[in-house]
Amino acid sequence: MTSTVDSAMRTFDVVSPLDGEVVASHPVADAREVAEAVRAAREAAPWWAGLGFAERARRLDAWRGVIARGARELAGLIHREMGKPHSDAMLEIAMALEHLAWAAKNAERVLGPRSVPSSLLTINQAASLEYRPLGVVGVIGPWNYPVFTPLGSLSFALAAGNTVVFKPSEYTPGVGLWLRDAFRQANGDRPVLQVVTGDGSTGEALCRAEVGKIGFTGSTATGKKVMAACAETLTPVLMECGGKDALLVDADADLDAAAEAAVWGGLSNAGQTCLGVERVYAHQEIYQPFLDRVVALAGGVRAGDQIGPVTMPGQLLVIARHIADALAKGGRAVLGGPSAVQGRFVQPTVLVDVPEDSTAITEETFGPTLAVSRVRDMDEAVARANASRYGLGASVFSRRNGEAIAARIRSGAVSVNSFVAYASIPSLPLGGVGDSGFGRVHGPDGLKEFTYARAMSRQRFPSPLPLTTFRRSPPVDAVVRTLVRYLHGRH
Ligand code: NDP
Repeated sequence: MTSTVDSAMRTFDVVSPLDGEVVASHPVADAREVAEAVRAAREAAPWWAGLGFAERARRLDAWRGVIARGARELAGLIHREMGKPHSDAMLEIAMALEHLAWAAKNAERVLGPRSVPSSLLTINQAASLEYRPLGVVGVIGPWNYPVFTPLGSLSFALAAGNTVVFKPSEYTPGVGLWLRDAFRQANGDRPVLQVVTGDGSTGEALCRAEVGKIGFTGSTATGKKVMAACAETLTPVLMECGGKDALLVDADADLDAAAEAAVWGGLSNAGQTCLGVERVYAHQEIYQPFLDRVVALAGGVRAGDQIGPVTMPGQLLVIARHIADALAKGGRAVLGGPSAVQGRFVQPTVLVDVPEDSTAITEETFGPTLAVSRVRDMDEAVARANASRYGLGASVFSRRNGEAIAARIRSGAVSVNSFVAYASIPSLPLGGVGDSGFGRVHGPDGLKEFTYARAMSRQRFPSPLPLTTFRRSPPVDAVVRTLVRYLHGRH
C-alpha cells in the first residue's frame, strides 16, 4: 500500500512510490470535521463574494505569485508523493498557473452583470443576467495531476466568488496542504480555501455536507458513488472522470509527429493520465512505418528514468491483467509485455492485433501501454474510436483532413496534429461525455460551472398590453391572438 490508514489513530501515512519511505502522516477528517470546515467556509463566503471580481483577481494573482516562487519545492513534493519526474511536475505547475491567471482575469467578463434584450410582449421590461456564486464548493481531487487537476476547479470556483473545501487524494494530501498554505500566505487566514485530508470516507462526508456543488475529478466508479451520495441532498455535481482516449493516424499524416505524440501521450506520467493515449488507430498504408517509429521511440523510454513508478499499487494488477487479456485474445507485444511489470515500475509496452473486446481496449489501463491497431481507412478509425463508453479526449493526425475527421469523434475535446493541446489553452473548456463525465472545467464554461444564473427583469413603464391581470380585457386578448398568429403562425 502506498497509503495506510489507521482509523483508530485517525491518521494515515503517505508512502512514496519511489522508495517506500513515509513522506508524512496526516489526519483522516471525519464527518464532524468536514462539517466544521464547511461551516467555516459558509461563514467566509459572503465576505469573499463581497470583495468583488477585481479584488478577488488581485488576491488570486497574489496566490499565483506564491505558487510560482515556490514551484521548485512544490514540484519536489509532487515527485515525492506520487512519483512523477521533477521536470514533469514543473510542467504540470506551469500549465495550472496559466488557468489560474485566466480565471482571475476573465471572471468578471464572463460572470458579471449584463443587459440582455427583452421581447415584443415584454417590451416594457429591462432584462439583465448575472452568474452568482454557489456559496461553498467541495472539490474532490485525484493524485495523478495533483496540482493541475484540482486547480481546474479551485481557481475557477474561487474566481467566481465561492469559498472552497478541498479533499485531495490520500496519495497526495501534502500537495493539497501546500496549495492551501500558499493561499494563506497570499491572503491571510480566513477560511476561504480549506483542505480536509483523509480517505474515501472523508470525500463521502464532503458529499453529504450540503455544499453548493461538488467538483469531482477521479475514476468513473468513484464518480458514481459521489453522485449517489450527493443525490441525497440534491447537491449538484461536476464529474471529471476517466478516459480511454484514441489517437488516429491518417495515411497523409506526419508520421514522426504522430509517433512522438502517441509515445508521449501514452507513456508520460507512466500512462497515468486521464487524457492519455491508450488506443491508436493507424491507416493500413502507413501502419508499419508508423509502428516502427513508435516502437523505436518507446524503446528509448525507461521507467525509473523518463517516467516514474506506478503510484497506486493496485493499478499494477490492472495493467498486468490488461496486457495478459490482450495476449490471451490473440494480441502481440512488440515492446514490453508481461515482463514489463517490474516491482513498482512498468516498462513501456506496445501491443498490436488486440481485439476490440479486450480489456486493453475497453477499460482504462492507466499504465504506460499503447494498443496500436491497423485500420482500413479513417471511417473505421472513427467508428472504433467512438465505440468506447468513454469520451474524454482524442487526437487526429492528418495533413489534409484533420478537422473533418475530428468533427466525427464523440469526445469532449480533440486535438489535430498534436497531443492534448486543448488542455493547455486557458479559454477552452475541458470535460467529457459518456463515462468520462459531464460539466466542464477551464474557460468560460468552467467559471459558469461554479455559479447559478440569476435573471432579473425591471419594469421600465406600464405595459401597453396588460397581460398578467384578471382585469385583462377582450381587446387585449384579441391582440394576443393576432400576435400569436403573426409571430409564430407563419412558420
Ligand atoms: P479515485 O476515483 O480513486 O479517487 C478520486 C478522489 O475521490 C480521491 O480524492 C478519493 O479519495 C476520493 N474518493 C474515493 N472514494 C470516495 C467516495 N466514496 N466519496 C467521495 N470521494 C471519494 O481516482 P484516482 O485518485 O485514482 O484518480 C485517477 C482517476 O481520475 C482516473 O480514472 C483518471 O482518468 C481520473 N482523472 C480524470 C481527469 C479528468 O479531467 N477527467 C483528470 C485526472 C484524473 P482517496 O484517494 O483518499 O481514496
